[in-house]
Amino acid sequence: MVDAHRLWKGPILDNHFHLNRKGRFLDAAKDFKNVGGTHLVLVHCPDFASPPTSFQEHRETYADTIAMAEEVRRTHDLHVRVVLGPHPAAFAHQFINWMDSDGEDGIERACENYRDSIDAALEFVKEGQAHAIGEVGRPHWEVSAEVWDLSNLLLEETMALAAREGIPLQLHVEGELESTYRDLSEMASRTGLPTHRLIRHYSPPQINESVTRGLTSSVLVGKGALEPLLASYEQNQTGFMLETDYMDDPRRPGAVLGPKTVPKRTQQLIEAGMDEEVLWKCHVDIPNALYGEPE
Ligand SMILES: [Zn+2]
Repeated sequence: MVDAHRLWKGPILDNHFHLNRKGRFLDAAKDFKNVGGTHLVLVHCPDFASPPTSFQEHRETYADTIAMAEEVRRTHDLHVRVVLGPHPAAFAHQFINWMDSDGEDGIERACENYRDSIDAALEFVKEGQAHAIGEVGRPHWEVSAEVWDLSNLLLEETMALAAREGIPLQLHVEGELESTYRDLSEMASRTGLPTHRLIRHYSPPQINESVTRGLTSSVLVGKGALEPLLASYEQNQTGFMLETDYMDDPRRPGAVLGPKTVPKRTQQLIEAGMDEEVLWKCHVDIPNALYGEPE
């Protein structure tokens, strides 16, 4: 039953948001705020054309994302958490290029560069300047068995580190429902990582616990997402958040969900009858439990 009189006045968090100094940057954050947004999770976006190749370069590009978060906090009085890590697409391309040019040495160099990027991110998390590692994962397109296996190996290694350090991971993985969740939850249990600390970014809207297997879902709230989300959230125990994966890419404006989408969908969810308690968990309790209290 749609009830247009119900209105959500609580906090609103977008769990996966990119910003680009050459894009709309502060204006995009302002759009989010103007429609009721209060909390952003700013996810580092590498320069896909030339991703960093040394520890120092990783640190420098991460530092800029942290600086952007601070500018958004100062300018718009929004809460911003920061997620840093080696994007699986950038890593896979680097791996393929280096393997083609240098064979075994190239593979080793790519692995080393991946580990450097994780270590650099971890330093910022320990300093309290970042709140999770991500987006990490594995290619969401067809790759050779070698690239696939190596991606899995490094992902499992990163899960072991997250278990040791007590930090959450934002995952970027292929689009399957059952097989992907099953695979990831098995990897988590092999490494001793509590599954809820794996946050599946770009999650499909079907979040029955029997499918999500203890992982936290960060649901991409496109137009068609509300119906399956409303049909399945009562069978979810672990928790979920909402996201746009806003890209702030000036070359592809409108190619992805815009910065106002999570606030808009939140109002649609409450109008459609979602409990306030569930929305409070989604926008406040789950993110606080995973990332710590907001800044
Ligand atoms: Zn992303």
